[in-house]
Amino acid sequence: MKNGEIFERTWLIYSLNSNKVFCFCCKLFGITSSPFRQGMNTWEGLSKKLKEHETCSAHFKCFKQWMTLRKGIANQATIDKKQQKLLHKERIFWRAVLERILDITLFLSARNLAFRGSDTAIGSKSNGNFLGVFELLAKYDTVLNELMQRIQDKETKEHYLSNDTQNELIRLLAREIESKNLSKVKKAKYYSIILDCTPDVSHKEQMSIILRSVTCTPGVGIDISENFFGYLTVNDTTGKGLFNAFLNQAKNWDLNILDCRGQSYDNGANMKGKVKGVQARFLEMNPKALYVPCANYSLNLVIVDGALSSISAISFFGVLSRLYTLFSSSPPRWEILKSCVAISVKPQSDTRWESRINCVKPLRFYLKEILEALEKLEEHALEKRDGATSTEVRSLTEYIRAWPFLLSIIIWYDVLFQINKSSKLLQSIS
Ligand SMILES: [Zn+2]
Repeated sequence: MKNGEIFERTWLIYSLNSNKVFCFCCKLFGITSSPFRQGMNTWEGLSKKLKEHETCSAHFKCFKQWMTLRKGIANQATIDKKQQKLLHKERIFWRAVLERILDITLFLSARNLAFRGSDTAIGSKSNGNFLGVFELLAKYDTVLNELMQRIQDKETKEHYLSNDTQNELIRLLAREIESKNLSKVKKAKYYSIILDCTPDVSHKEQMSIILRSVTCTPGVGIDISENFFGYLTVNDTTGKGLFNAFLNQAKNWDLNILDCRGQSYDNGANMKGKVKGVQARFLEMNPKALYVPCANYSLNLVIVDGALSSISAISFFGVLSRLYTLFSSSPPRWEILKSCVAISVKPQSDTRWESRINCVKPLRFYLKEILEALEKLEEHALEKRDGATSTEVRSLTEYIRAWPFLLSIIIWYDVLFQINKSSKLLQSIS
């Protein structure tokens, strides 16, 4: 108003769709020719027209009718109060439905369970976990049972169960979780990053991002948390490419790179490289982001390089692998081994050396039984006139009986036992 006082025109509404202004009460009760019932989009001189409309008797009449109706609805004294009650009930019903469907979404996501099956029909056995859980809950819960009835009686087309709705709910929940975790990191101010790359099934390189922060609350204590922030698809897997991918993400999150105090990666050259690796580029930007290589990975590298530097170690593990291949190549052979040795012989892992203790263990404690199994296998091969196998068995037996091999079993078992113990300790949460 002229005197500077602000006065709200409660009746004035604007439609984004038609880009017009309307008078709410004249739209409801006014005569069709009223300009503010039709909608107005001539912006020039609008202020004057509004003032004229506000004071005209037709508008005043409608305004009064609107106020009466409003009071009636509030006191539940209108003719359509039953409809009002129904509307209110419906609103409560759909909110309850949404609440349950969100819970199903959370339940499946938290357990890494697939949502979909091969079809989307209610009542089908192959409609997947999401619809399956919905059907199960509908058996016991009145709200979902009501929804189920409505769908079956074709009373409603809306049900919040479609694939699109599932995707939207997952997206919304993920965004919410991400923003909660992010605000935790920002509140702690300082953080560390853990990045790791691996190709997915479609051969795209995916980089996982984990942020680690420490929250100190007086009286409560210290809370160290590592939160997973999802995967980034990266096309450029050089140190520069990976670093830029992370920088972009940090920019999106409004995360200050200068608050980073630590970085930890595996020992890939693009990550830990002293000149062009991610850690070097990061340090250039923020010298306080201390680089700590993954201790468990380093331990693994030490043992791999150690084993490869000795010829007797190379042939020792070669014999172990031949032994495994010999027995595992057919079920009858595996039966022979099982009938003699109480524990099962395991294949070797190329990446996790600490687990190789499981391959050495049978030889360390059941050597006599393994030699017996080899003897039986040779008999079995000769019966079948299988010369190749019997020669292989003979050569392996000779190798295993030899003094250097026996010594290797004892030494490697002791070494791997310590490695395995340290590795387990390094991976423990505390
Ligand atoms: Zn009006």
